Amino acid sequence: MRILSGMRPTGKLHIGHLVGALENWVKLQEEGNECFYFVADWHALTTHYDDVSQLKEYTREVVRGFLACGLDPEKSVIFVQSAIKEHAELALLFSMFVSVSRLERVPTYKEIKKELNYKDLSNVGFLIYPVLQAADILIYKAQGVPVGEDQVYHIELTREIARRFNYLYAEVFPEPEAILSKVPKLPGTDGRKMSKSYGNVINLEIGERELESMVLTMVTDPARKRRSDPGNPENCPVWKYHEAFGVSEEESKWIWDGCTTAKIGCVDCKRLLLKHMREKLVPIWERFRKIDEDPRYVEDVILEGNKKAREVAAKTMEEVRRAMNLMF
Ligand code: SF4
Repeated sequence: MRILSGMRPTGKLHIGHLVGALENWVKLQEEGNECFYFVADWHALTTHYDDVSQLKEYTREVVRGFLACGLDPEKSVIFVQSAIKEHAELALLFSMFVSVSRLERVPTYKEIKKELNYKDLSNVGFLIYPVLQAADILIYKAQGVPVGEDQVYHIELTREIARRFNYLYAEVFPEPEAILSKVPKLPGTDGRKMSKSYGNVINLEIGERELESMVLTMVTDPARKRRSDPGNPENCPVWKYHEAFGVSEEESKWIWDGCTTAKIGCVDCKRLLLKHMREKLVPIWERFRKIDEDPRYVEDVILEGNKKAREVAAKTMEEVRRAMNLMF
C-alpha cells in the first residue's frame, strides 16, 4: 500500500507526536508499505505566515525527530513539502473546481479560527489549506493516510476532489482511505490539553531526571486527595499515559484493583509508567545521539527524499496536465 502523511514544523517533537503519529508511521514502514512522510512547512504558513524566523530550523528539527523515532530513509521517502513545487501547482488546479462555500463548511476551518482568535485568519491560504492537503495526498496517489480523528473529514474532502477531477477530466487519482490511529489524544501532564504554553508537554529529548520529576508530579484523579482515598483510572491522565506507553494485562489489573480500592498509591502507579516510558524513550535518545554525530546527516536525508518525492510528483503532474490539456 502507498502511504502518505505529514507533520507541521512546530519545533522540537514531544511524546504526543510519538504515540499519536510516529509509532504508527514506523509500524506502517516496517510492514513493508511504500511510505512517504513529509514536513508540511507550507501548511505551517497558513496559520503562522507572520513569523517565519524559525521555519527552517523547525523543519530540520522535525526530520531529526522522525529519524530518532525510527523512520528509516532506506525504507521511507522523507521530504519537505515546499521543495516539491508540484504540490502548489496541483493545489492551484484543484482550486478551480472547489467552491468557497464547501471550504467554509470544513469543521476545522471554524474550530481553528476560534482557537487562534488572536490571529487574523482571513487569508486565502488558510481557507484553501484542505485543497493543498488534497494535493499533497493525491500527487503521490496515496492509498492510505494515517491521521487522527480530527482529520478524517479532510480525507473525505480529498476523496471528493479526486472523484470530481476524475469525472471532469480523466481517471488519474485513486481515492485514499484514512488509517485511524488507535491511541487517543494524550492530555498534558496536568490533565489539560497538551500545549507548550501550559508547560505540560514532555519533549522527546527530555533528560532522565526531568522525565522522572514531570511524571511523578503528574495530576491524577482529583478524587484521590489522600493515599487512602479510592480513585478511578478513567478520570486520571496517568492512566491515559499507561495506555499509550504499553501496559500488560496483568499490570492493568494491578492498577485498576489497586486504584479503585486504594491498595496502591499514585507514586507506585507512576513508577510503573516511568519504567514503560523509559523503555520507549531510551532507544530514541540513543538515535538522537547517533544522528548528531554527523552534522550533515539530516540535510542529506532531506535532499535524497526530496529527489525521490519529486520524481513521483512530476510523473503525476504530467498525467494531470495532459488530462487538462495544459500541454504547452
Ligand atoms: S493510582 Fe494510578 S490511575 Fe489511580 S489515580 Fe493514582 S495515578 Fe491515577
